[in-house]
Amino acid sequence: ETGTKVCCLKPEQMNEQEAIERYMHRHGLNDFSPKAALIDMDGTLYDSMGHHADAWYKLISGLGIECCREEFFLYEGRTGVSTINLLFNRAYGHDATPEEARELYKTKTELFSAMPPVDPMPGARAMVDTLLSRDITTVLVTGSGQNTLLNRLDTDFPGAFPDGRRITSHDVKFGKPHPEPFLRAMELVGVSAEQSIAIDNAPMGVKSGAASGAFTIGVVTGPIPEEELWNAGADIVYSSMPQLARRIQHLLNTL
Ligand code: MG
Repeated sequence: ETGTKVCCLKPEQMNEQEAIERYMHRHGLNDFSPKAALIDMDGTLYDSMGHHADAWYKLISGLGIECCREEFFLYEGRTGVSTINLLFNRAYGHDATPEEARELYKTKTELFSAMPPVDPMPGARAMVDTLLSRDITTVLVTGSGQNTLLNRLDTDFPGAFPDGRRITSHDVKFGKPHPEPFLRAMELVGVSAEQSIAIDNAPMGVKSGAASGAFTIGVVTGPIPEEELWNAGADIVYSSMPQLARRIQHLLNTL
């Protein structure tokens, strides 16, 4: 009942306590003590969305399919194959064949890898380190299967996402916005939804996190407006990764 009112608040006015209470009320919980943080990669841990949008635009416009660069920010979180099928359906009225989709996604991956290296998102390392210092298990939940970034995780986020704490495009059938990726991550580390925090920068990812039942944090790191993340079902939205990094301590302290 306070949902619409809260949507009008700026994140800095947003009370973490209220967000948690609303979450607990909605899920009928008496207690919320998170054991795991399930964290998206592109646009959350890495400032990579511009490169992804460029690679997609080059690939799809190169096929003669009409598209614009900005739309690819909205498809963020989907698996590569589902993005390809969405565009094929719009242009031709049918899916790509599995072979076509595989081939095209391979080309997209090559285009992305050929671009200059991306930086970790400012604040991401601090956020991850805070979670680890509070004994919260960090798990990667990405729709990507691209080794360019996956191979850098151990260097950029030491100890946070070892093998066995990663859900990638290879581990899921449906991908975001379906809850499957976050549910698989919970299974992986043996926690329930009520013990999980999902963190994602994209509407699809937030939708997926919220549908999984986790306390879902949306974080704005690109051109997608804050409202889209509230509308996707975020329990709380932060306007930047550095802001989330600063507030996560406070959020955990209110529990
Ligand atoms: Mg993302």
